[in-house]
Amino acid sequence: MKVVFLGTRGEIEARTRRHRMHSSLLVSYRGTRLMIDCGLDWLGKFERLRPSAIVLTHAHPDHAWGLKDGAPCPVHAPQKTWQTLQRCNVKDRHLIKERTPTKISDIMFEAFPVEHSILAPAVGYRVSAGHACIFYAPDLIFIHDRAAALKEVQIYIGDGATLTRSFVRKRGKRLIGHAPVRTQLAWCRKEGVPRAIITHCGSEIVTGDERKLLAKLRAMVTEPGLEARIAYDGMKLILQ
Ligand SMILES: [Zn+2]
Ligand SMILES: [Zn+2]
Repeated sequence: MKVVFLGTRGEIEARTRRHRMHSSLLVSYRGTRLMIDCGLDWLGKFERLRPSAIVLTHAHPDHAWGLKDGAPCPVHAPQKTWQTLQRCNVKDRHLIKERTPTKISDIMFEAFPVEHSILAPAVGYRVSAGHACIFYAPDLIFIHDRAAALKEVQIYIGDGATLTRSFVRKRGKRLIGHAPVRTQLAWCRKEGVPRAIITHCGSEIVTGDERKLLAKLRAMVTEPGLEARIAYDGMKLILQ
């Protein structure tokens, strides 16, 4: 499985060359090229990537509004995301049922509900092909069934909105926002995930000094057996 970080920018004003485009991942295996998320930065641009299909985590503008004018390929999303995206012009809509492994060409997807937003309910995807398995959740406070989501995952790709500060707000009984990187690394340790890569980078990362950021990240990875790094636009990985 080949993974390309097409974009790594979160929903903030600042953008730099390293974090220029809204967070999006291209996962390829054999002849299949699946794009996960297509935010507003990708409007009029994603077509040239020639994805076989697009998969959405949720309906927020930085994840789905690149599809305002439609798409030349099938688009897969959970029911709650389609409900929020009623006005978008996508014709070839497919449903991904939560917690039901769904094969899209040669790549297996399983959607896990995550807490993040009330208006745009989000999922994280467990994505597997061949022997490779990753979990992608660019926006989240927590995963509802974390142990199942991260079981035998090789790489956790998570939410970089904030490194240590809390970004969580209360709306009635529900929580909305983003878990700090520190918390997500603790999940990886608990579930035995050996690598974490941070995307959806917020202002702390985008405008921060790279050397200081790496030192901060290293200080959070207190145990051997867990490696963490920050993604940038165009970063590529090959998983066996
Ligand atoms: Zn969001
Ligand atoms: Zn977002």
